[in-house]
Amino acid sequence: LLRTALPSRASPQAFSRSLSQLPKVAAAHMAPVNGFVGAIGNTPLIRLMEPGGSVKDRAALYVVKDAEEKGLIKPGGTVVEGTAGNTGIGLAHVCRSKGYKCVIYMPNTQSQEKIDLLRMLGAEVHPVPAVAFDNPENYNHQARRHAERLDNAVWTNQFDNVANRRAHIETTGPEIWEQTDDGRNLDGFVCATGTGGTLAGVTAFLKEKSQGRVKCWLADPPGSVLHSYIQSGGELMDRQGGSITEGIGQGRVTDNLKPDIEKLDGSVHVPDAESIEMVYRCLDEEGIYIGASSALNVVAAAKMAKALGKGSNVVTILCDGAYRYQNRLFSRKWLQSKELESAIPQHLQKYIIL
Ligand code: PMP
Repeated sequence: LLRTALPSRASPQAFSRSLSQLPKVAAAHMAPVNGFVGAIGNTPLIRLMEPGGSVKDRAALYVVKDAEEKGLIKPGGTVVEGTAGNTGIGLAHVCRSKGYKCVIYMPNTQSQEKIDLLRMLGAEVHPVPAVAFDNPENYNHQARRHAERLDNAVWTNQFDNVANRRAHIETTGPEIWEQTDDGRNLDGFVCATGTGGTLAGVTAFLKEKSQGRVKCWLADPPGSVLHSYIQSGGELMDRQGGSITEGIGQGRVTDNLKPDIEKLDGSVHVPDAESIEMVYRCLDEEGIYIGASSALNVVAAAKMAKALGKGSNVVTILCDGAYRYQNRLFSRKWLQSKELESAIPQHLQKYIIL
């Protein structure tokens, strides 16, 4: 986790300067917390920092709590989910700490690191062919059918279960608000979407709190249809192509996105070449090790800050670390296979070590 208040001008000093600006937040983190579940949330807002984990822990906790509150799962039960990996990792942690079994279906295009971590956390993992949502063999439908075959099991349905959006209305949104002096230091928020829970929840909260003042944008990778949906005023195209940014990109307006997509003030498309370059730049200039969806968000935040004007503060999400993708992102062979080797500037090529 988690997010960045982007400096208007990235500088090597930004990281250490920002640490010294956060005594209050650091102190809050010194209090012991109760296990994995107690440690979710209250992520400090900092200029370009990436302390590890993933943005999806919040959604994972909320969909499990929602199932418990609705009586859909009892002690010893099984949580089943379709996920690109990070929600699964969040769920695997939550399930371990609450004593549930965890079964994960994911597209077989995702990184080996995420699959390995899921298995190490005790989840049963089913990598399945990456087919579109309208195909019955899509990983989400397979997860639903698996849960239906078991007793005391729940399919948490992160894409259309609005407990996911609620996680960000109740935690991420308020945390951003508080850490920007009740929104006084906040002009914009932007992030990409997978389920849309993060963008929708944060947008819902910030729009209401600021009475519409804080601008909210969507960021979109190649192969996603939401940027064109917003730009065209609601036309949904077919998905074409893909992206190196795992966990984001969407072919439909999910139930999590539905209540808030009309509230968005704009959207920005970010090509893979810009995202991968930002992975390397964040490492080199800020000393932070972020995944490609986080880097895409940073590119989008810089574009938004420029559009909103000099001195504007834009917050985005650092979704996870590069640890979950390092055998891809720092491999010359993989970069070549994606025709992205030339996207890495000469002075950053020293980081291609795999
Ligand atoms: N980045 C990564 C790496 C993710 O795994 C996800 C979730 N799939 C997201 C971003 C998008 O978050 P959300 O589902 O809340 O839209």
